[in-house]
Amino acid sequence: MTTTGLHYVIDEDDRLVRASDGYFSFARENGWAGVDASIGRSIWDFVAGEQPRNILRILLRRVRDMNREIELPFRCDGPGVRREMDIRLASTPSGRAVLFRARLQNEITREFQPLLDPKARTGGAPIEMCSWCDRFQVAGDWVEVEEAAARLMLFQRADPPPISHNICGDCSETLLAA
Ligand SMILES: [Zn+2]
Repeated sequence: MTTTGLHYVIDEDDRLVRASDGYFSFARENGWAGVDASIGRSIWDFVAGEQPRNILRILLRRVRDMNREIELPFRCDGPGVRREMDIRLASTPSGRAVLFRARLQNEITREFQPLLDPKARTGGAPIEMCSWCDRFQVAGDWVEVEEAAARLMLFQRADPPPISHNICGDCSETLLAA
């Protein structure tokens, strides 16, 4: 997995204006759609879910208005890997642009998880995933993907459920305290 020099910059209008080679390789390896045409586009085209968008908006406002730097742990799991990362958001000296710098802390290979496979054909009612810690909500509990798959009996199903993006209570607290 490519995670060296994973950074990108958004301008004052939240458009992606620059990204490192590491960002493009990482995005391609993770099957992010449309990554090769992403320069010049709004980051809001890539952030799914009302809550994740609200939280990111708050963080960006803090970084810009208070000229702060925020560093937070987050997860960026793939279908066969659990990936613990951290990300730093910093305003640039010129003002309203924001630099995002992500760093891999720990990567653990695991059983393939169809819930996280971007190429999977999905069906049935959607399942909520926290955009920040990559846990899933099953019957009111936020659980790791392995437990979600077991509780949903995913391996006996033809199609995994589609994912809708949210922020869990724990992450919402952490992020708003940042
Ligand atoms: Zn979470």
